[in-house]
Amino acid sequence: MPVDPEVTMIKRLLLVASTNRRLEKLMSTSPLARGLVSRYVAGDTLQEAIAVTRELRAHGIDVSLDLLGETVDDLAESAIATKAYVEAVRAIAENRLGATVSVKLSQLGIGLDPAVCADHLDELLRAAAEVGVPVEIDMEHSSVGPATLEAFRAAVHDHPGTRIAIQAAMRRTPGDLESFTGVTPRIRLVKGAFLEPIEKSLQERKEITAQYRYLADWALVNLPDPAFGTHDDACIDHVKRSADRLGIARRDFEFQMLHGVRRDVQRALAEEGYRIRVYLPYGMQWYPYLMRRMAERPANLLLFLRSLVSG
Ligand SMILES: Cc1cc2nc3c(=O)[nH]c(=O)nc-3n(C[C@H](O)[C@H](O)[C@H](O)COP(=O)(O)OP(=O)(O)OC[C@H]3O[C@@H](n4cnc5c(N)ncnc54)[C@H](O)[C@@H]3O)c2cc1C
Repeated sequence: MPVDPEVTMIKRLLLVASTNRRLEKLMSTSPLARGLVSRYVAGDTLQEAIAVTRELRAHGIDVSLDLLGETVDDLAESAIATKAYVEAVRAIAENRLGATVSVKLSQLGIGLDPAVCADHLDELLRAAAEVGVPVEIDMEHSSVGPATLEAFRAAVHDHPGTRIAIQAAMRRTPGDLESFTGVTPRIRLVKGAFLEPIEKSLQERKEITAQYRYLADWALVNLPDPAFGTHDDACIDHVKRSADRLGIARRDFEFQMLHGVRRDVQRALAEEGYRIRVYLPYGMQWYPYLMRRMAERPANLLLFLRSLVSG
């Protein structure tokens, strides 16, 4: 399919807008954005996220809880985010939700002080291990990506169940995957959601999909319990076919999708006997998350603009 230059431009604009603090302030206080937010976000509170988790589990869909919030301005904020994650893992265990948590290391302060961030991550991983809740680490923009991978590398020996997101679009990814020694990482393979320069990242959709499929096959063969974070039929069908060909059972890997995206496919996968986990954000700081979701599907921008016009 040829790349539509207008869509590509809107996508880039949305990704630039996702990091604009003034726009964030404007949108975050607009009641008009709420409709769109509620499609992707469980609610403002952990309690609301737990309620949505229960509903999803009733349909055979597992959850990874994500406390919204990214780059913090000071380390006090990162300490607060860490405590909130500790509260979440305890709530998951107490309520027997079978969920994981997904954490962004920028939220734990990696951009300010990697050593303090490592302490926060350690606090979270220990608390999670105490109650038997797995932790997943999101992969962010390349400004913090390599540091995120190093933090994972340092933590994974003591906490081998930890999962790290890996972006297929990034040119360094194959090398990163082969660079692990003494541990085979658990990964969530995603295409990559951030605006990256051509030297660092593939840009064409076709190329990224091809790389995703190649890495998916590699992960199925070489890694334990891989997770495939995608809504793309071309990737989902490829993973299903490869797993069949390799004789890998449907419960030995996992599909992951974002809350609010392709719910019909989520349910169908569960009914077919595949493991499916939904990434479920909650909290107030939804702006950058929402803008990236709109960039993934610029048609969503029209929905949003329509809601602004119609009030
Ligand atoms: C569970 C999970 C965790 C993720 N974690 C990370 C991470 O840690 N780091 C990172 O960089 N990226 C992450 N991503 C985002 C990912 O990198 C992609 O940006 C995103 O998944 C879109 O790519 P796709 O594979 O779904 O394929 P696409 O080709 O983008 O989408 C395929 C189809 O899915 C539907 N779709 C996709 N996105 C949307 C949307 N937002 N709204 C409505 N419909 C949509 C559309 O029908 C589209 O045609 C994550 C994605 C998932 C599913």
